[in-house]
Amino acid sequence: MFSVNAIAATSATEPLARTTIERREVGPRDVLIEIRYAGICHSDIHTVRGEWGEVAYPLTVGHEIVGEVTEVGAEVTKHAVGDRVGVGCMVNSCRECDNCRAGQEQYCLDGATGTYAAVDRDGTITQGGYSTHVVVDQDFVLRVPESIPYEAAAPLLCAGITTYSPLAHWNAGPGKKVAVVGMGGLGHMAVKIAVAMGADVTVLSQTLGKKDDGLAFGASDYYATGDPATFEALRNSFDLIINTVSVPIDMAAYLGLLRLDGTLVSVGAPPEPLAVPVFSLFNNRRSFAGSSIGGIGETQEMLDFCAERGIVPQVELIGADEVNDAYERVLKSDVRYRFVIDVATLRR
Ligand code: NAP
Ligand code: ZN
Ligand code: ZN
Repeated sequence: MFSVNAIAATSATEPLARTTIERREVGPRDVLIEIRYAGICHSDIHTVRGEWGEVAYPLTVGHEIVGEVTEVGAEVTKHAVGDRVGVGCMVNSCRECDNCRAGQEQYCLDGATGTYAAVDRDGTITQGGYSTHVVVDQDFVLRVPESIPYEAAAPLLCAGITTYSPLAHWNAGPGKKVAVVGMGGLGHMAVKIAVAMGADVTVLSQTLGKKDDGLAFGASDYYATGDPATFEALRNSFDLIINTVSVPIDMAAYLGLLRLDGTLVSVGAPPEPLAVPVFSLFNNRRSFAGSSIGGIGETQEMLDFCAERGIVPQVELIGADEVNDAYERVLKSDVRYRFVIDVATLRR
């Protein structure tokens, strides 16, 4: 084991603070990554505040990680020292169940191992990316194309894949009308990716405050959900709605926006249940679904897609001592559009 600088939560209510954490020695199939940038996902906040259930403190979160390979184990073939790589929301899975064999490791029937707050195969609790180094099995490490700017690549590892996967699965593309609810970290990626896939994209945000950005990301329409007229104007309009909101939404109101055979996919993960009135599903034979991140192969596909299409997350770079302020701003929907920690500030 070796110690590295990190930022950790010590309880559900205390501010995060600098500390050191232990990383395992580099095993034969592991790579050691010197982390350069780490994104702040709303899931980090739900987790450290205990909103999704109890966690063991101290806990270092962060599952949007990019950095450079500085050491590889003897059996590593997929990555080499000097490579620019990424790690997302999971660092292992059973590799043998039907879902793992289908390349859907995020749905591992034995439970994929989360990048933080999960019991690792060796019994320790995984610790995430708000730290200077991480040791990860080569199979869960992604190649980050050089054409994606280093400081903006991290959000692709969660926000990017979490929106790419349902957009691809439900065939967002030419002739499809897609709505994105909530334009934060996930939402702004959903807009950019759906536009690149060729869909006609509408943003549904609480206010019109970010309308210029939404249109610049390629959306063709932008509506305020605070205005009840929006739900009248857009009734029976969309083939696909991607809900990224971190609190429960009025399901009847949003389901009403789906046209025949339309699907509302929730990727937003509020701790409270979403109340689905069944009659809202009967009309137009609508579906309600969920989706969790994406598989490792699909994550690589997404990174390559974003590199080819020039899709770059819009980030606000912060230092290690600004994380608590960033959390408060995320909670106020005041993020444009992802906070990314410059991990150089954690080395000193
Ligand atoms: P985020 O940056 O905070 O974005 C959430 C957006 O939801 C906000 O920007 C805001 O958009 C809207 N919103 C927030 N509070 C609201 C409220 N009270 N009423 C209506 N709208 C509100 O968060 P994120 O990092 O994108 O994550 C979003 C959710 O997805 C979180 O619950 C997170 O845990 C979850 N998540 C799930 C997965 C998965 O695999 N399924 C992966 C990653 C994250 P506007 O300002 O535009 O209204
Ligand atoms: Zn996330
Ligand atoms: Zn499995």
